[in-house]
Amino acid sequence: MTATTGVRYPFASSLPAPGGMLEVAPGVHWVRMPLPFALDHINLWVIEDGDGWTIVDTGYGVEATQELWTRLLAGPMGDRPVKRIVVTHYHPDHVGCAAWLAGRTGAPVWMTTSEFLSAHAARDDAAGFDRATGIDFFGRNGLDTSTIPEKVRLGNAYRRGVPELPRTYRRMMHGDELVIGGHAWEVITVFGHAPEHAALHCQSLGLLISGDQVLPRITSNVGVWGNQPDANPLALFLDSLARFEPCDEGIRVLPSHDRVFEGLHPRLAQLRAHHAERLIALLAACDRPVSAFEILPVLFKRALDEHQMGFAMGEAIAHLHYLLAEGRVTREESGGVRRFVRA
Ligand SMILES: [Zn+2]
Repeated sequence: MTATTGVRYPFASSLPAPGGMLEVAPGVHWVRMPLPFALDHINLWVIEDGDGWTIVDTGYGVEATQELWTRLLAGPMGDRPVKRIVVTHYHPDHVGCAAWLAGRTGAPVWMTTSEFLSAHAARDDAAGFDRATGIDFFGRNGLDTSTIPEKVRLGNAYRRGVPELPRTYRRMMHGDELVIGGHAWEVITVFGHAPEHAALHCQSLGLLISGDQVLPRITSNVGVWGNQPDANPLALFLDSLARFEPCDEGIRVLPSHDRVFEGLHPRLAQLRAHHAERLIALLAACDRPVSAFEILPVLFKRALDEHQMGFAMGEAIAHLHYLLAEGRVTREESGGVRRFVRA
């Protein structure tokens, strides 16, 4: 959490009703779907597109979401055709209903290639997305892996929210322009939270669909995972935030969680300050060789449940790898565990 001075909420007292939508700019509608987590909702966007609609993100792939979509399609969306389904990134709350919606509406799914392939890999336990690779990696970073419960060790949590995936897609790349309802929306790809996360910027409407990259109050998870054990995603995350800097000061941001907000540039500054503070705190704690696991209490004051532990480990390693790349810590490995110490 960080301070949010300079961030304003133009819809502070209203939220879209379940199965309903709220217009946040001409022809651009906010939809909110439930999530079965501590973070209990996701925002999706439905954009008027000629005689039909473009949908941006699809919700967690469970019946409750599908029922709300059914109400929405027949109700506020007036059974008009869905022309395109855009998915910002591969996480289950974004892509979970994409195949179901595509099957129901006949609309093509638009994604970046890294996100499309990561979704399939995560669902199929391929390309190092399997638990064994992830658990080995956390063990190498100091976690006592015998504490990981069997259901985590054996289950595929991704599949719970993604019962099926589209087998084909339309590729989006950085700089592409999608024309939706007569307005140009520029694809801006950003990194660190997901491999090739797509954000959408519409200058003429003054809107930025920021996905999970920029949220108004919480910070996005930035983690290192088992299939890229030496990655530096925090550098990618912070560097790619610069791609939002050219947006106009008055831009309205449509984030995947929490509320629509204004004050993008102050928020970008807060995110940078937040990570800089955490890096300083971690560096101070590296006065003796420490593993990512040993350093978790510096970053996370609260007790972590098994779901949060994985994200916390990934995040701690991401900050340590950032310091490593900057030459501010060195890394040693003994007894199969990596430890970091101030350079
Ligand atoms: Zn995400």
